[in-house]
Amino acid sequence: MKYRYDGDNWLLRLDIGEKLKEQLTNLIKKENIPSAWVSGIGAAQSAEIGYYDLVAKEYRFRKLSKVMEIASLAGNVTFSGNEPVLHLHIVLSDENLHSYGGHLRDLEAAGTVELFLRKWNGEPLARAYDEATGLSVLNL
Ligand code: ZN
Repeated sequence: MKYRYDGDNWLLRLDIGEKLKEQLTNLIKKENIPSAWVSGIGAAQSAEIGYYDLVAKEYRFRKLSKVMEIASLAGNVTFSGNEPVLHLHIVLSDENLHSYGGHLRDLEAAGTVELFLRKWNGEPLARAYDEATGLSVLNL
């Protein structure tokens, strides 16, 4: 991973084979990033994405093992105690331009992944368990 910081934003590049969550978590800890909004594009050689079943209160994940475009990636960085929580959603497209989308568990970079982190300038944001949905929601 390579990155630059301009005082408010981080621009990251992941190279082939690098895992997104591992790289992003390492950067957040190294740079003491308080909270941030994430966006990105690029390509993945595998990804695990999911759908949240609101009745069962659990994610149903599916692993996609092929090279796909990252048509769009969006999410945020918050904290549970001192541990960063990455909440990321993604739209991927395959060689037929068919799309897959959902909650991103993790992905492995293919050709490149370009991520943009916009710093949240307030107190670090936390998450709290919401009994009604079973989700860990933004604690605002
Ligand atoms: Zn989600």
